Amino acid sequence: MQMLLKGDYFNGRFTHPEGLGNLSGAQERILKKCPAELTQTLWEAGVYFDHVEKVIASAEKGFDSWRKLSFAERINFLKKYQEIVRARKDEIAMALALEVGKPLWEAKTEAAALDSKVSVTITDSLKRIEQETLKDVMPKIDGHVVYKPLGPCFVIGPFNFPCHLANGQILSALLAGNSIIFKPSEKTIFSAQLMIECFHQAGFPEGVVNFINGTGYTAGKLTGDKRIRGIFFTGSRNVGLKILENTYKDLGKLVALELGGKNSTIIHHDTNISHALPELLRACFLTSGQRCTSTSMILVHRKIEQEFISQFKALTERIRVGHPTKDQDPFMGPLIDEHAEKLYFDFCQFGKQEGAEEIVSPRKLDVGYQGHYVSPSIHYAKKPDLKGKFIQEEIFGPNCFFVPYDDIEEAIKIANCTEYGLAASVFTRDQDIYKLCLRDIDSGLLNLNRSTVGATARMPFGGVKNSGNHHPAAVSMIDHCVSTVASLETLDDNSSKISDVVGLEN
Ligand code: NAD
Repeated sequence: MQMLLKGDYFNGRFTHPEGLGNLSGAQERILKKCPAELTQTLWEAGVYFDHVEKVIASAEKGFDSWRKLSFAERINFLKKYQEIVRARKDEIAMALALEVGKPLWEAKTEAAALDSKVSVTITDSLKRIEQETLKDVMPKIDGHVVYKPLGPCFVIGPFNFPCHLANGQILSALLAGNSIIFKPSEKTIFSAQLMIECFHQAGFPEGVVNFINGTGYTAGKLTGDKRIRGIFFTGSRNVGLKILENTYKDLGKLVALELGGKNSTIIHHDTNISHALPELLRACFLTSGQRCTSTSMILVHRKIEQEFISQFKALTERIRVGHPTKDQDPFMGPLIDEHAEKLYFDFCQFGKQEGAEEIVSPRKLDVGYQGHYVSPSIHYAKKPDLKGKFIQEEIFGPNCFFVPYDDIEEAIKIANCTEYGLAASVFTRDQDIYKLCLRDIDSGLLNLNRSTVGATARMPFGGVKNSGNHHPAAVSMIDHCVSTVASLETLDDNSSKISDVVGLEN
C-alpha cells in the first residue's frame, strides 16, 4: 500500500505547505517506519506551524454556517460519511495494520467501528442534547433547556486507535453543531488522513472538518488559542496534564481528557476458569498490551491460584506474534516503536527490582521481519510493593502480573492502590462479590465475568482518578460538545402588574 500524505486539511481541501517537495521548509520532520518491517519507510512528513492560524480561521468559518443547520440536515451529512467509510473500510484497515502494527483481523474491527459509530451517535447520543421542555416549571411558565454547540473544537488522538476514538469524538461534536480540527498522533497520520478523506468525500461544508498534523508543539499552539472552545483529548496522563496547564486560565474552554489506565481483574475462587482464561488472555495481550483498558494486574484467589496461573502461562506461551498483514492471523503484532520496546523491557526490569518474580520473561522476537516484536510476559508477587513503579504506572506493553489474595476486601484494596481508575473486572458467580466490587472499586468501567477490554459505544466510557476528568466519551461524549441555555417562557404578557411590585411609593 502506498501512503501518500496530502498535508493539512482546511477550507475544504488538503494543502501541502510550500516547500514540501524536498521537506526543506519544514519546521519538523517525521519519518514513519512500519513497526512490523523497519526496512519499509511508510511516509515522511513535514510539519509546518504556519498552518495553525489558517486552520483555526477555517474552523471558525465552518462553525458559523454549520451551527445554523438542523439536526436532520447534519444527520444527512453524517450518513453520507457512513456510506463512504463503509465502502473504504478495507483500505482503512490495511493502513491501520501497517501504521500501528495491529493484526489485520483486529484492524478490520477498528475500521468497521467507524461505520457503526455513526448509527449509535444518531440513535443513542442525539437524544441527550435535544431541547427539553418542562411544562409549568413555575406558575404559568414553561421551561426550556436548549443545548448549544461550543464552537471550533480540537480533537487530539493517540496512536493505538488512530481512527476509532477520534471518530467518536468528531461525530458527536459535529452532530451537536461544532466544527472540528483533528490532530492525529504523529505516528499514525496516514490512517487518520483516510478518515478525513471520507469526510471530504461526504461533502461537508468548507471549514466544518479540519485536519492538522504535527507533534505536541503544534497541538500546544491550538490548545492555548482562545478561539478553540472545546478540547477532546485521548492520550497519556502526562500530556493531559500539560493540556490543563495550557488552558486553565480560559475558564470557558471545555477540556475533556481520556487518559491511561492500570487495570485490574479479580478472579474469585468460584470462577469458571475455562471462561475466564480466554477473556483474560485477550485483555492482557491484544494489541500487544497497547490499550488503555488492557488488564495489567490479576488478583487471583489463593484457592485457585496455582491451577489458574499454570493454565494462563501455558496459553501465553502459545501466543503467535507475527507480521500484521503478511502472517496468517497472529494474536498480536509488534509494538509501535523503539521507544515503546525499550519502555517495555525497562518496565519488566522494574518489576524484578521491586520484588516480582518473572514467570514468563519478556524477549525480543525474531519472526522473520525486522520489527518491534516482543513476547508477552508474566510477573508474580505474593506481597507486591504497592507504592512501586511497577504497580503504579501504566506499562503499555504485553505484560500482566498476578497477585494472590485470601479476602475480597484485600483484592479490592490492591485494585484501588494505583493512581489510575479506568477499567476493572471481576470473575465470580457470587452477586454479592460483584456488588461489593461495583461499590468499592474506583474505576469508570467495571465488568462482571467479562474482561476489561471491549467496551460498548452505547454506554459512557471514561475513568476516574488519573484516568480522566469526568467527561466520559462514547455515548456521553455529546454531553461535552454543548453548553446549556435555560429559558423561562412566559407566553401571557399580561401577567405582570405594577401593583404586584413590593416597596413602591404610591
Ligand atoms: P500521548 O499522550 O503520547 O499522545 C497523544 C496525543 O497527544 C498525540 O497526538 C500527541 O501528538 C499529542 N500531544 C503530545 N504533546 C502534546 C501537548 N503538549 N499538547 C497537546 N497534545 C499533545 O499518547 P499515545 O502514546 O499516543 O497513546 C497512548 C496513551 O493514550 C496511553 O496512556 C493510553 O492509555 C491512552 N489512551 C487512553 C484512552 C482512553 O480512552 N482513556 C484510549 C486510548 C489511549
